[in-house]
Amino acid sequence: MIENEKLLKINTVKDRLKGDTLIAAHHYQNPEIVKCADLVGDSYKLAHLISKSSARNIILCGVNFMAESAAILAREDQKIFIPDSDALCPMAEMADIKVVEKVYEMLRSRYNIDLVPVVYVNSYIDLKNFVGREGGSTCTSSNAKIILQYYLKKNKKILFLPDYFLGANTANAIKDVNARKIIENGEIEDFDNDYVKEINIFLWDGFCPIHQQFTLNDILVLRKNYPEIKVIVHPESKEEVVNNSDYYGSTEYIYDMIKKSKKGSVWGVGTEGTFVQRLALENPDKKVIPLKDARCFNMAKINLDKLLDTLQAISDNKAEKYQVKVENNLKINASKALNKMIEIVESSRI
Ligand code: SF4
Repeated sequence: MIENEKLLKINTVKDRLKGDTLIAAHHYQNPEIVKCADLVGDSYKLAHLISKSSARNIILCGVNFMAESAAILAREDQKIFIPDSDALCPMAEMADIKVVEKVYEMLRSRYNIDLVPVVYVNSYIDLKNFVGREGGSTCTSSNAKIILQYYLKKNKKILFLPDYFLGANTANAIKDVNARKIIENGEIEDFDNDYVKEINIFLWDGFCPIHQQFTLNDILVLRKNYPEIKVIVHPESKEEVVNNSDYYGSTEYIYDMIKKSKKGSVWGVGTEGTFVQRLALENPDKKVIPLKDARCFNMAKINLDKLLDTLQAISDNKAEKYQVKVENNLKINASKALNKMIEIVESSRI
């Protein structure tokens, strides 16, 4: 089946489901998936809007922690589906709950500190459950600064995980904050008390293999070739990349900045390649150049065939294998952590 036929078929099956099915796609999805999505956004936008949707069936086109987050926030009458449950995020695999709990307890008992965990949404339900249980919050790249400042103002020390770079780059943007990597290969380094007392944010050692590909040299080459260029990058990038960019922020921020920019402006963009390619297509009056063509292969696992199969299975009432279910005993605290983020962000807007 060629692309147009598939799109037609997808719309036909969707119409049959009478508006009761919502297709939500992350910005890094393939353009043809974005074309059939009712909702397109970054992790925060998707989590927030899905939780407000009246649709009973939600198909999440993204990686599995996103579908899991949607399932945590879903109402009793809502079902969450993912077209390919093998679409994983390697970063989410980098913080094992047993190691996290061990390190958290060790930090608290060894140094007697008032510690709260903050977890990037790129993580699994067991971690979010732990964070909710301990009075912490999730965060996304669009709100990490607001969330960290919320706890810092309460004089808490923070265990930030799993992404070292989002934590470090965000801490760099907050005045007088000392953030340190404390764990390497599952082992906590042996610090003395005075050293630990000076630390505000303890950083895990996770990273995104896609955003790690951008280098300072990528920026220098683009600046040499296009002196008027503005460089914008995602905060999962290395610190030297973020520090040498003109702007940095979440995927939604990057999308909006380029969309609102002046005709004829030139952008060097350091984030996922499929998304940058779409940015270039959607902004033909500007020049949009990737720092490097770095693609997330897991995001790309979702395609039109799998989306069509999922829709068809929902329509036939045989979609069990696509449905994302979460354990009830983990859901309560995990939703606390996600809702805490929404509450902190929304109250910061008042
Ligand atoms: Fe995970 Fe990086 Fe892919 Fe995002 S781009 S889903 S953080 S591997």
